Amino acid sequence: MAIADWAQDVSRGISRAVEDAQEGVGELFEPVIRLGVTGLSRAGKTVFITSLVANLLERGRMAQLSAQSAGRIQQVYLQPQPDDTIPRFDIEGHLDALHADPPRWPASTRAISQLRLSLRLRPENWILGLAGERVVHLDIVDYPGEWLLDLPLLDKSYADWSAEALRAAQSPARAGLAETWLRQMTGTDPAARLDEPAAQALAEAFRGYLRAGKEAGLSDLAPGRFLMPGDMEGAPALTFAPLPPAPQARSGSILRAFERRFEAYKRSVVQPFFRDHFARLHRQVVLVDVLDALHGGPRAIADLKTAMAEILTCFKTGRNGWLAPILGTKVDRILICATKADHLHHGQHDRLADITQALLTEARQRAKYHGAQTAAMAIASLRATVEQEITHDGAPLGMVRGTLQETGREAALHPGDLPEAPDEVLRDAGDGLEGWRAGAYGVMRFAPPRLASRAAGPPHIRLDRALEFLIGDKL
Ligand code: GDP
Repeated sequence: MAIADWAQDVSRGISRAVEDAQEGVGELFEPVIRLGVTGLSRAGKTVFITSLVANLLERGRMAQLSAQSAGRIQQVYLQPQPDDTIPRFDIEGHLDALHADPPRWPASTRAISQLRLSLRLRPENWILGLAGERVVHLDIVDYPGEWLLDLPLLDKSYADWSAEALRAAQSPARAGLAETWLRQMTGTDPAARLDEPAAQALAEAFRGYLRAGKEAGLSDLAPGRFLMPGDMEGAPALTFAPLPPAPQARSGSILRAFERRFEAYKRSVVQPFFRDHFARLHRQVVLVDVLDALHGGPRAIADLKTAMAEILTCFKTGRNGWLAPILGTKVDRILICATKADHLHHGQHDRLADITQALLTEARQRAKYHGAQTAAMAIASLRATVEQEITHDGAPLGMVRGTLQETGREAALHPGDLPEAPDEVLRDAGDGLEGWRAGAYGVMRFAPPRLASRAAGPPHIRLDRALEFLIGDKL
């Protein structure tokens, strides 16, 4: 990084420290908890936040939130968005979708957005009347997990990144996905003069490969903005792709142009996101669609494991060396949730949580070592099914019944038995198998349930427990 960039970063770091100190003064009176909600696309972020907000506004289903069961929450209300530079999370639009006839799932996260809820609380010792009520603000920040996959790019050169991306594209899990892009790349002379339409076509082919990877159930697909561009769609900083080395390439060549754009991407897209948004979070929930990856097979699980390790590396507080100024050190609780647990009978929820734990063990240990408390659980932000038990071959079988998204028909399904020991899943994934030794796990999409009224929070599984872990101590 050039010295001028460093100087700029340091001065930004200082001005942020001043801002933080000023915030700190205000926060003594009305504390603000910044809760980050992330996860790869379709992990369930939008549904999580929408249901969480609805269930905080109407708290009949929040018994496991201790401040609620102890009667300390007097009122919860939506506030104007405090940060003028971040779009507001469209809570009204998302709730309208869920309450439509027929109900629709809300539109998924495409970029960062934020929402402020305020909780008016009685003090813990209110019976003694020792102190008045207090207000805690909960800022919920929704952002694509794909953006966290960009962190490792920061200390890679374009040549290193290109070499790794080319190697990954040739791995068995990605066989066939990268063909079009690789063919186009092989036909490109990296030292040739930059021809913008050809450069765009190459970047688009590379993006097509990442999209195909996503479709095939893979997770570790960087650069993150290629799949989730946010407001960067079509920007030159996103018009690059890996190329093989060509030492003879001169400054007007396609290779040098891509190298410059790669550096611009790091400097103007990746760094500002971490510094201005990520570094300010206090608590974080990472949502993971483990069931979908199980359905995708061992290679999808292995890829998810790598992606999650990269995501959790961002929370390795304290030891990030030169990254410390842009990562911050505030996140002290991280919850990892396997979402959509309503696809399984409750008899299998513990297994889902165990598999999630096992997938993240190494990465979690590292985060814990550095001072953050972590937990993993299986949740459903919005329960779209009811349970049903049948007898099959003389034995009881737990099923879930709901309306299928594709056909609108009601169906009772058993997606397969998750293994009791998560090691089985890890072993098959580690061996790079194409299919599970023990059989397959089905997934299906359920339509959202018809919600009785807006006067009750939507049905969920363990959303209240998740919130208790995330912010219970602050209430
Ligand atoms: P995002 O990309 O992380 O914002 O993902 P969404 O929140 O939009 O969720 C993607 C899709 O997953 C939704 O459209 C639903 O089909 C499904 N989904 C999310 N949460 C749940 C849940 O709790 N239960 C069920 N059955 N489906 C869910």
